[in-house]
Amino acid sequence: MNTYRKPARKLEGIKPYDPKSMPAKVVLSANESPYQAPSELHRAIQSCVGAASLNRYPDPLAETLRRTIAQAHNLAPDQVLVGNGGDELLFNFVLAWGGAGRIFLNMPPTFSVYEHNARITDTRVVSIPRKADFSINEEAVCDRVAFGDIDFIVVTSPNNPTGNTADPSFIKRLLESSDAMVLVDEAYFEFAGATVLPWLNRYKNLAILRTLSKAYGLAGVRLGYLLAHADVISELLKVRQPYSVDTVSQLIGTCVLEQRAAFDRHIAATIDQRDLVFEALGKMGGVRPYPSDANFILFRLENASKVWESLYSRGVLVRDFSRERGLKNCLRVTIGTPDENRCFLDVLEDILAQEGDSHGK
Ligand SMILES: *Cc1c(COP(=O)(O)O)cnc(C)c1O
Repeated sequence: MNTYRKPARKLEGIKPYDPKSMPAKVVLSANESPYQAPSELHRAIQSCVGAASLNRYPDPLAETLRRTIAQAHNLAPDQVLVGNGGDELLFNFVLAWGGAGRIFLNMPPTFSVYEHNARITDTRVVSIPRKADFSINEEAVCDRVAFGDIDFIVVTSPNNPTGNTADPSFIKRLLESSDAMVLVDEAYFEFAGATVLPWLNRYKNLAILRTLSKAYGLAGVRLGYLLAHADVISELLKVRQPYSVDTVSQLIGTCVLEQRAAFDRHIAATIDQRDLVFEALGKMGGVRPYPSDANFILFRLENASKVWESLYSRGVLVRDFSRERGLKNCLRVTIGTPDENRCFLDVLEDILAQEGDSHGK
């Protein structure tokens, strides 16, 4: 045939997820860590990868890594599920708790993957937009949840791309007000410190998502994990791909988590730099940075997409959110090394000064 049978109707109008990654001298667009593992750990990773039996299928549930994660969080192994990046677990979650006739409560602007996953699985999305300062509209969310028809909610804390954490008392209210599953996406937890982990043994409808892509510098390896009640994990086992986490990733993840203290220095440096970049942005006329507990900062300024282009033409790649709903004139910069951050700030200052000059003429 010179044509093909059309795919499912729901795919009409859907655009594939695009991280908008482009080559640049200074890449501050994807919330990755700017740091490689410390050299000693790097060598340890290489030697354990070298010993892998690649002719065999991986352990489906990554039991060794699972036990390491369980230990690190003071949980039982059956409260842990490892995935091919946090993204795979988000997809598994919507396969299990979403679908036709099911309802997901979203709080945009937030991680676009949630809504995308809902659309491709025929899950109905109820959106309760955040307030102008990007805090959650808690009253509206609780009023809506009180209807009793919501199947699951994702609370992103810290939220991407806005950077703010959710109020723990709000999350508690959600957990207690209905049996809807509440997935707290803590992908940036290590930069914030705040977590609802201690509540796992108290609430059966709580699940927590973590990743090794951000604080632990393993975005290229694809490892995330979900923490929840063993019964919740059992439901997710029904929808997951059996061999999604390959042998090499399992070995690297175990090695990195066993020595995760080696990353404390990187995390502390990123937090220091974040506060520095926030202060510097706040001092630039016409730039409004939003407070962040993560490893990135969202900021608003006039002609954001033009400024994005000028930054890129000078070798600095940040993420342009200015065309997204609720994020008019917003750009997001990932915190890099001190040199990268200095470069970003200098180039931005220069661009704004030139703009000021041309307006003055
Ligand atoms: C980065 C991120 C994830 C997970 O990323 P993976 O690389 O797939 O582990 C999950 N949620 C949010 C909000 C993120 O920003």
